[in-house]
Amino acid sequence: MDKKISIIGGGLSGLVCSHFLLKKGLDVDLYECQNGLAKKFLVAGKGGLNLTHSEPTYKFSRKYFEHEEFFHELISEFSSADLRQWLLELGVETFVGSSGRVFPSGCTAGEILAKISSSLNNYSGFTLFKSHRLVGLNIEKELSFETDNGLKKLRADNIVLCLGGASWSITGSDGKWSKIINSLGVKTNPFRPMNCGFEVAWNDPSSIDGKFLKNICVKYPPHEKKGELLLTSYGLEGGAIYALSYFLEKELRNGVEVGITIDLKPDLSLETTILRLNSAKAKESTNTTLRKKLGLSVAALEILKNATTKEEYFDKITLANRIKSLPISLIGTRPLDEAISTSGGVDFDEVDQNLMLKNIPGVYVVGEMLDWQAPTGGYLFQGCISMSHRVSKTLGDLLT
Ligand SMILES: Cc1cc2nc3c(=O)[nH]c(=O)nc-3n(C[C@H](O)[C@H](O)[C@H](O)COP(=O)(O)OP(=O)(O)OC[C@H]3O[C@@H](n4cnc5c(N)ncnc54)[C@H](O)[C@@H]3O)c2cc1C
Repeated sequence: MDKKISIIGGGLSGLVCSHFLLKKGLDVDLYECQNGLAKKFLVAGKGGLNLTHSEPTYKFSRKYFEHEEFFHELISEFSSADLRQWLLELGVETFVGSSGRVFPSGCTAGEILAKISSSLNNYSGFTLFKSHRLVGLNIEKELSFETDNGLKKLRADNIVLCLGGASWSITGSDGKWSKIINSLGVKTNPFRPMNCGFEVAWNDPSSIDGKFLKNICVKYPPHEKKGELLLTSYGLEGGAIYALSYFLEKELRNGVEVGITIDLKPDLSLETTILRLNSAKAKESTNTTLRKKLGLSVAALEILKNATTKEEYFDKITLANRIKSLPISLIGTRPLDEAISTSGGVDFDEVDQNLMLKNIPGVYVVGEMLDWQAPTGGYLFQGCISMSHRVSKTLGDLLT
């Protein structure tokens, strides 16, 4: 049997899968449509690169919603501790932040990518084909690539597809592969934005644009998330709303507006908030009271003004209630291409426990191209890498 594996897609999943397979003594041909590797990983590195999370596996796997059970198995097999150890062996040290999230210590995404790439190049069995866009695959496992030198066709016994989701298309993750997958009789689900911004019809968008709300709590009962929000002229961005995107997007899909509330002072009770508002000096302006007695930021004042009427703003009891539970109506998600991640793609029922397509033995699917979702916080990278581990273990057991 051919001991060469063809991996298509040179994002994080494709690179890690290549590394795991090479370590097992197998040969890897890696095909990537762009002229560079892991461009989305590099984009992720521009924010706080959150590689995984340190929480125990039983808690960790709950972050994968309806696929909790499957990811529990995957993460038990290759945990966040294993991921950190793998990085350490590549020369990348990590640390656990106060939130339990895991970050690289003094190493950029570009440097991590360089270490992974140089490690791959140390294996004689590794060949990289850049600017190779997969344009066809049939059940005989014949692959067609568009290249700078025209169409290239080849056949492979073992194929791992790591083609990513459908956001940030500039990085190569454009989801156009779904037509190829459908032509094989494999079901894919529509792509949806996850970990995405939401649109709000503000009364006065320019007054809030670019302001940060810190130490707030977004509530969409029974779900809630403490954290930060970035107020933009079009709506809301930031960790506290991204974390609820799975639930909010689902509801918005039905075509109705979705009501959330924001607690601007989650550490104060309603009673204390009322007491502090009532303790204002007679001639003090409401703005001054809100700043001095409650420590509200400029951003908090602006969003309050945007989401309350004048009458509500000047009535202390109503205002206290709004501070503790400010109703905001979400009218839509931001466009798919802006999302940090996407759900949709290859339906989970199309793959077996080892992520092999049930109707085309020898073809595996890994990473964001499968229909799963998880919040930001390192859960996406860990999910991709634990899947890469499962597939490489399966192929290793089969071929070595
Ligand atoms: C701004 C931002 C910040 C993020 N921050 C974090 C974070 O801190 N922590 C976290 O866990 N996750 C984060 N993510 C999400 C994470 O980057 C992705 O979930 C992860 O990169 C998915 O890896 P992947 O290899 O499955 O897909 P991708 O990284 O999308 O890779 C897919 C690859 O396939 C290639 N490809 C596509 N079609 C073809 C084709 N037809 N032929 C050949 N090649 C093709 C693409 O060019 C690409 O290189 C962030 C994402 C963004 C956008």
